[in-house]
Amino acid sequence: MIEKVDCIVIGAGVVGLAIARSLAVAGREVIILEAENSYGMHTSTRNSGCIHAGINYPPGSLKNQLAIRGKNLLYQYCPERGVTHEMTGKFVVAIEDEDIPVLHELKEKANKNGLDQIYIADAGQIKEMEPNLNCAGALYSPTSGLIEPHDLMTAFLGDAENCGAVLAVNTKVLSGAIFEDFVELIVSGNPETKIRCGLCVNAAGHGAQKIAAAIKGISSETVPKQFLTRGCYFVMHGRKPFNRM
Ligand SMILES: Cc1cc2nc3c(=O)[nH]c(=O)nc-3n(C[C@H](O)[C@H](O)[C@H](O)COP(=O)(O)OP(=O)(O)OC[C@H]3O[C@@H](n4cnc5c(N)ncnc54)[C@H](O)[C@@H]3O)c2cc1C
Repeated sequence: MIEKVDCIVIGAGVVGLAIARSLAVAGREVIILEAENSYGMHTSTRNSGCIHAGINYPPGSLKNQLAIRGKNLLYQYCPERGVTHEMTGKFVVAIEDEDIPVLHELKEKANKNGLDQIYIADAGQIKEMEPNLNCAGALYSPTSGLIEPHDLMTAFLGDAENCGAVLAVNTKVLSGAIFEDFVELIVSGNPETKIRCGLCVNAAGHGAQKIAAAIKGISSETVPKQFLTRGCYFVMHGRKPFNRM
């Protein structure tokens, strides 16, 4: 017998869990299919945990609107659900004098994005706020902050499960097909299983393109191209010299 469910969310990262939560809270039946043996094993726990203020996105863009709305929703949601976070504030630093015009450009962009609290801090303000910060100038964003992403995902999953959602781990989506009234997915297991749903959300992070390519009925032209880049984090031992980002 083929399993049927109202909604399937593929991927239990922060995006998939947020979507699953919204659907479940709205009364939909939800199964989250996750390839790993737990949630949040990929990008969602390997990031900077910064709550972005929405400074640097094109003014009026959807990304900008969502960044600002998301930030406000996070600052409301985190205290309600005990998610570790802090509105630390953030400096964007100009090391040399010649970098200072860039700060003014950023400030103008931020103001156009509706972020009126952002200001260019003078040397006195910078020394008072961060005595160890040596720079030519800095833009200060008071509403930027830090969050513990795993806490956030635990809260999202808890809310979703309280509304009946189910997380299926070790369940990798291998392929599928779109039919007129439903989407059929083939998931890993011994034997592999077919599962059908009315609504399927592909929130598989950097696995999303591969899944889209393996589902019959999705035109390759509609799948955004993947651009992989590599970054490095450094671990600093000892007392941190700064209180803000
Ligand atoms: C270095 C770095 C720093 C960042 N810093 C920040 C920051 O400070 N602030 C910020 O807001 N954002 C930041 N981001 C962006 C943010 O981390 C991502 O946008 C976010 O984590 C993406 O979440 P996701 O749920 O889409 O993907 P993921 O967390 O990758 O989740 C995808 C899930 O899908 C699962 N999956 C994949 N393929 C399958 C399959 N076939 N079947 C079933 N499951 C599957 C994976 O196992 C995974 O659990 C940063 C990103 C990077 C790379």
